[in-house]
Amino acid sequence: MILFWNMNSKKYLLVMMCVLLHGVLYAQQEKRFLKHHISILTEPAMEGRGYVHKGNEKAAKYVVKNMKNYGLLSVMPDSAYLQSYYFAVNTFPDEVFVSINKKVLATGADYIVDAGSSSINIERGRVKMINLNKVKDTTQWNTMKASFGGNHIYWLKGVDSFNKRMHTGMRHLAKELPAGCYIVPVHGKMTWTVATEQIPATIIYTEDTVMPHYPRRGNVRIHAAMLPQNKNRNENVIACVPGAVKDSFVVFTAHYDHLGRMGSNTYFPGASDNASGTAMLLYLANYFSNSPQHYTMVFIAFSGEEAGLLGSDYFVQHPLIPLDHIRFLTNIDIMGDATDGVTVVNATEFPKEFSLLQRLNSASGYLPQIKSRGKAANSDHYHFTEAGVPSFFIYSNGGKGYYHDVFDTGASLPFTNIEAAAKLFVAFAKALNKPY
Ligand SMILES: [Zn+2]
Repeated sequence: MILFWNMNSKKYLLVMMCVLLHGVLYAQQEKRFLKHHISILTEPAMEGRGYVHKGNEKAAKYVVKNMKNYGLLSVMPDSAYLQSYYFAVNTFPDEVFVSINKKVLATGADYIVDAGSSSINIERGRVKMINLNKVKDTTQWNTMKASFGGNHIYWLKGVDSFNKRMHTGMRHLAKELPAGCYIVPVHGKMTWTVATEQIPATIIYTEDTVMPHYPRRGNVRIHAAMLPQNKNRNENVIACVPGAVKDSFVVFTAHYDHLGRMGSNTYFPGASDNASGTAMLLYLANYFSNSPQHYTMVFIAFSGEEAGLLGSDYFVQHPLIPLDHIRFLTNIDIMGDATDGVTVVNATEFPKEFSLLQRLNSASGYLPQIKSRGKAANSDHYHFTEAGVPSFFIYSNGGKGYYHDVFDTGASLPFTNIEAAAKLFVAFAKALNKPY
């Protein structure tokens, strides 16, 4: 501002307008950058960044290509950017079809298949309603279970209260059911996941409302393919911007994997979870490659998060940078809409860094709110925290509530305050590179 003090007012106005315009354009640039990456990471060719048609490897290649383009370097002596590891996973590569009374149900929208399900092929199977409320004890349950199977579709009623009564949960019940086809009604949101083992049963979760009033017969054709561990390679991507101090690190992480496909016609785009965080990671990588810091900035894109934090677990077991040289690690998972600001997991564990983040935010008025949360094993920071690495997991609060479903698309992300979140991450990283 002091630069303009001797200008006449017209000139001053012009310069101020240019400054403001530059600010607006710059904000649009950030938004465009993030949206561009989210749209590519969520397109059908990425297969939901899962395990059908190697969507996970396609996404890894995309992240590496961009990291290299931005000029980031490898942290490994062989100049590689990838860390490979393996795990078994259940997949649905082609046919997933359900019709009841000739009404074809929409995969993903009307129903989801339990991620651990086995293959099944039922033509004109009778729908049998099973009232689990009638089951009083384990003996009765075991007798009933033994009768399941064959060319029937068992519509299980009263699952929630049954599980409560039997002191069990849906996961346990799913594993216990014998081979056969089951429909389990869910109330409210359907949330898909990734299974690393197969169960004998084939379970279809659906709302009661999508079932015909008197379900009599149905066709169910589901092909599940279990990929053994040695057939499912996964990659963590890692790259760095060397600082003046080469062996101390400020780290950002985000998982790029998602749930993949449920049949040939349905995939889970995972825009919010976590194409948005991956795009933010790329944004920060690009930013800091043009603006090296005192410490070495490291960027890790993990795989296998949705399968149970497997990529970050492997990395912590086989670290490519010494864990005790990480000054601070910030994990970003869900960063598509910050209408209500962000939440910081581990805020209570690292109060000094949390108050630094809050000071930076209130000084520049980036986000309306930064919420504090304690420890939680809910994303890739977790294994680092357990290994003694100071870390945050930051996620945004807002959006339309689409999570682990087919509706989590790029177009559904409101994107409110995301440029401000990007600026806050930059300011936080810079502050972590100075004494605080
Ligand atoms: Zn997730």
